[in-house]
Amino acid sequence: MADTKETLICPACGSEMEKVYSNEHDIYVDICTKGCGGMFFDNRELKKFDEGKENINFILAAINNKEFKRVDTTKQRTCPVCSAIMVKNHTDFSGEIEIDECYSCGGVFLDNGELIKLRSQYETEEERAKKFNEIFQRKCSEMTDSEISDIN
Ligand SMILES: [Zn+2]
Ligand SMILES: [Zn+2]
Repeated sequence: MADTKETLICPACGSEMEKVYSNEHDIYVDICTKGCGGMFFDNRELKKFDEGKENINFILAAINNKEFKRVDTTKQRTCPVCSAIMVKNHTDFSGEIEIDECYSCGGVFLDNGELIKLRSQYETEEERAKKFNEIFQRKCSEMTDSEISDIN
């Protein structure tokens, strides 16, 4: 999906979001630089930035040394692009990071600091897949027989 041209309104705090351009990726990321520091990624954009080896200097430049409003991260949010209700999802089994996803347009909203946390977990896609597998295997082996029969 192409970048949206209109100014987006932050789904967390209602401020106007700023479009921050990356030469390297040739895309804009919408960042709530005047409000809560949250950021919105269009469909698939987040994939380009969620691992530690990927370059996000243009994002950091936009948020560094700024004070951001605190927001209630548990609140339900509405997609700033298509107005669908966004769904909260954990990005991993540890449940540490909860992102808001729009199943209608594929957009993702991250609260301030979540991108950094997300990236600090894995350096590469392979590492992520490996870790995910490990935890999945462990969860399976910890399940009791009755839990397994519930699934079947
Ligand atoms: Zn905001
Ligand atoms: Zn949407």
